Amino acid sequence: MSLLLDGLAASSGIAIAPAYLLVGPDLSIKKQHTADKNHEVARLRDSFTLTTKELRAIRQRAHQDLGQQAAAVVDAQLTMVDDPVLVKKIENIINEQAATAEWAVKLITDHYLELFERMNGNDYLNSRALAIRDLYKRVISHLLGTNLPDPAALDHRAILVATNITPTDTAQLDRRYVAGLVTDYGGRTSHFSIMSKTLALPVVVGTHTATKKIHDGDLLVVDGIHGKVIVNPTEEQLEHYRLLAGEFAREQQAWGTLRDQHTVSQDGRQYTVAANVGTLSDINVARDHGAEGIGLLRTEFLYMDQTELPGEDEQFKAYRQFVSGMDQQRVVARTLDIGGDKRLGMLKLPREDNPYLGFRAIRIGLAEPTVLRPQLRALLRASVYGRLAIMFPMIATPEEFTRAREILDEEERKLSRAGIAVADNIEVGMMLEVPSAAVMADVFAPDVDFFSIGSNDLIQYLFAADRGNSRVAYLYQELHPAVLRLVKRVIDAAHAEGKWVGMCGEMAGNPLATPLLTAMGLDEFSMNSSQILPIRSLISHLNVRQLQPLVHRALAAHSAREVEMLVREYVPILRKN
Ligand code: PEP
Ligand code: MG
Repeated sequence: MSLLLDGLAASSGIAIAPAYLLVGPDLSIKKQHTADKNHEVARLRDSFTLTTKELRAIRQRAHQDLGQQAAAVVDAQLTMVDDPVLVKKIENIINEQAATAEWAVKLITDHYLELFERMNGNDYLNSRALAIRDLYKRVISHLLGTNLPDPAALDHRAILVATNITPTDTAQLDRRYVAGLVTDYGGRTSHFSIMSKTLALPVVVGTHTATKKIHDGDLLVVDGIHGKVIVNPTEEQLEHYRLLAGEFAREQQAWGTLRDQHTVSQDGRQYTVAANVGTLSDINVARDHGAEGIGLLRTEFLYMDQTELPGEDEQFKAYRQFVSGMDQQRVVARTLDIGGDKRLGMLKLPREDNPYLGFRAIRIGLAEPTVLRPQLRALLRASVYGRLAIMFPMIATPEEFTRAREILDEEERKLSRAGIAVADNIEVGMMLEVPSAAVMADVFAPDVDFFSIGSNDLIQYLFAADRGNSRVAYLYQELHPAVLRLVKRVIDAAHAEGKWVGMCGEMAGNPLATPLLTAMGLDEFSMNSSQILPIRSLISHLNVRQLQPLVHRALAAHSAREVEMLVREYVPILRKN
């Protein structure tokens, strides 16, 4: 009997091959004391030396086979094992608590993982936590004298199935044999997923039960397009997936030819398809996928695993890399958007009953100038290294935008008085994600250089439905006429003042929204890099002029379902799935 597992599509493609389970030995540790602390310290140091050696070998292989980006992931782990402060901390636990080396390593690891947990995980933090867990596994396995499963030992074509595949595991994969990957845990944008995209392997993560339900040698289909895994498929299913695999390969080839092209509709209208990024390594991924700029740089990453606010210089160095990394393509940096589901340990903000409606984003920025001002100065200083735009998140009233802009202008004047160069063409805009601002877009338009529609928040506030709550997910409807009317209003208001409008929420990468957004005149679509080429390809097939009646009918429709049917009726290539 075949079995279907649902997960998240982390890297696209279809693979059909037998399963190879990568399940590790029992590394559980009990609290134990020692009478010989010096011996434990020596064991600890030995295990760190062995781990460093092992990681160096993995790094070398990663560099050769996968390039600099993969090597950098291993480098981050090497920095941790080489950190004398970390070793000292563990030694102190051994000495103060008479703990065994294993127990001391466990205590310190738990401490760091808890710190991450309190910061409320996003994909970036989760991947840092994964790196720490991987390091823990390696050190403990050396202390216990056991061997971890070795992905490099695979000697036949197979799909790897694991609880969690770490970046270092990925770096050891032998491309000749690995056909695809399936994990119990993991997020779409974890480092592991990003690296597997480099390998161009189909990957499904977050299945929860893969390692329990799949046995060594089971025939698997990994559908990295839709995030599904079929265990022991029927002949019919195999036939279906073989066809899909062929189609995918042809599509990939067609998309590849669009990588260095502009985004132009069939009737000659030009659009910008840009990437959303959150870390420096995302920049390479964005360029590889043919991004025409960065429509959203989420600056939160700089603040995430820190115990203190990052200083102006540290921020400046990071922003400079983003801006120069995109040459002269525009990089839209958003000022710190914290609050709601994203919490920061170092900002001692009181708990709120309604965090999504509370003290967040620009509201914090305006109330705590010690946070906003250094960030703006760092951004302004980075502006001379490329083409920078700055935008403020969660603006609800014109006064908020005016005040934020005044602060920016003040910092700019201070920098020029100090003789520090700032680009003179920085565009200043705002996120449009609060319904009040969308309704009043015509009032904002004269004062901004651009709008960027944050559909994720805009939709949650419009329907009063928490975007992370699956029980109200049915209200999260990107194609609902209420959303479309608001989006249209924003685009028209901006264009009436000669300003451009982008969209950087998930809706920008939804192919069913593309015909409507292009026909309504959205200028920039910013999305996860992996969606760029499919969306560029779709736009190249659209005759935007002929889609005007679709817009009229969609705006007058009564439901998202009705809009979806209209889109499929007007755009034949969207009919199939
Ligand atoms: C949005 O709200 O659409 C957006 C892009 O911002 P974030 O997802 O970071 O809240
Ligand atoms: Mg938002």
